[in-house]
Amino acid sequence: MGERPEISVVVPAFNEEANVVPMVERLVAALDGVVEGFEIVFIDDGSKDRTWAEVAALAERDRRVRGVRFARNFGHQAAVTAGIDAARGTAVVLIDADLQDPPEVIPELVAKWREGFEVVYAQREAREGESWFKKTTAAFFYRTLRAITNVDIPLDTGDFRLMGPRAVEAFRAFGERNRFIRGLVSWVGFEQAGVRYRRHARNAGETKYPLKKMIRFAIDGITSFSFLPLRLATWLGFAVSALAFVYIVVVIGLKLAGINWPGYTSLMASILFLGGVQLIMIGILGEYLGRVFDEVKQRPLYLVGESTDGTVPVVGRARGRERGDDEAGR
Ligand code: UDP
Ligand code: MG
Repeated sequence: MGERPEISVVVPAFNEEANVVPMVERLVAALDGVVEGFEIVFIDDGSKDRTWAEVAALAERDRRVRGVRFARNFGHQAAVTAGIDAARGTAVVLIDADLQDPPEVIPELVAKWREGFEVVYAQREAREGESWFKKTTAAFFYRTLRAITNVDIPLDTGDFRLMGPRAVEAFRAFGERNRFIRGLVSWVGFEQAGVRYRRHARNAGETKYPLKKMIRFAIDGITSFSFLPLRLATWLGFAVSALAFVYIVVVIGLKLAGINWPGYTSLMASILFLGGVQLIMIGILGEYLGRVFDEVKQRPLYLVGESTDGTVPVVGRARGRERGDDEAGR
């Protein structure tokens, strides 16, 4: 296994066959001689194309390349988690496989880390090759998230970042299933700094985050960091009660003044309005309840089919099975 590399680069890849080789070439060019040893850990998130074949071939030739193959598609955030779990380096860099995040920025992240920052995130100052829709919704989402959570998630950051050893250790201790990694990494605290960069267009292939997944991801982000949607019910309840009270006073006043106010339309309107509000609130409760259910089941976060060096266990994160748990637990 040799000595510990300074940097582990974690690359989640889902159907990225055309990006694996250029990714490794650019990472090697950017890091060779710049850092004291590095490894590249690909997590093949159940790809249906030749991604794994490409990774395995590279790993055969270059010992710095490692690969972990999931038993099926577990999703981007699970892949990143597995990468962090498998990493052997002192610091871990998270980067997308599609070369949207240029590997050439990594030495800048490393330089900041060496200055003493524990987490160095890369902040997009421009995004090329992404639709107007994606950019606007992303901008809106990050601003909303920042406004309603008490976690200081920096604006316009993705998962492209460097985590120092203390942040990595903290991250590995998280047991939760619904993971919003960029939020969790901010949550750990320590000294954090940003480096600005230009986000490029995808190198090859197409986005693995269609609108549906983006919405899921956004809901995950909000629910795992904020109770505000739940409180909304209380506020709405107070607001509607106040309105109802005013309405009652008005109606009684009109009655006393001898004015008769027929009520079909307003009755219909308020029934439908309140019905809608109540259903939305039940839906929000459901979102949280579903997540609680997920956490309670304690299923493993991901399953590993194979790894290039054969050292990565099938079940990496079964909670309650960790060493010493049996004695400590009872
Ligand atoms: N990805 C993954 N599993 C998934 C979806 C995406 O590992 O289920 C990886 C993907 O290969 C890429 C990264 O996550 O390396 C970001 O995905 P993508 O570039 O498609 O998202 P976008 O940049 O369009 O938001
Ligand atoms: Mg991308």
